[in-house]
Amino acid sequence: MYDQNNIFAKILRSEIPCKKIAEDQYFLSFHDIAPKAAVHALVIPTGHYKNVHDFTTRASTDELVGFWKGVNTTIDALNVAQNGYRLIANTGTDGRQDVPHFHIHILGGQDLGPKIVMS
Ligand code: AMP
Repeated sequence: MYDQNNIFAKILRSEIPCKKIAEDQYFLSFHDIAPKAAVHALVIPTGHYKNVHDFTTRASTDELVGFWKGVNTTIDALNVAQNGYRLIANTGTDGRQDVPHFHIHILGGQDLGPKIVMS
């Protein structure tokens, strides 16, 4: 069951603000409010999906393609493609997902080391 009151649903409804990077009908990207790296952005689908598995199971082909194009658009806007970056999709309880609306973290702008602990 998708929680309509999660914080990213509220951002999509413009009930709370975000530092927007890019958007279209399929995705919205914005800067993380508590960055864990020099560059830390989030990309979310505009549709209501609680995690990556839910998204990949239920989204249409247009939504799937539109979302991943949005990830690339955001990577280009952040200017991290040349030096590299890390994508993370925390999922469910064991994955320590805090916000139950599917999102991809884009981390970069520095050497990220062997791993990042998402506290
Ligand atoms: P996760 O543990 O993968 O669900 O991560 C959720 C992320 O959302 C965390 O990195 C938070 O810092 C970030 N976050 C929470 N609220 C906001 C907000 N209002 N604007 C931007 N990022 C947020």
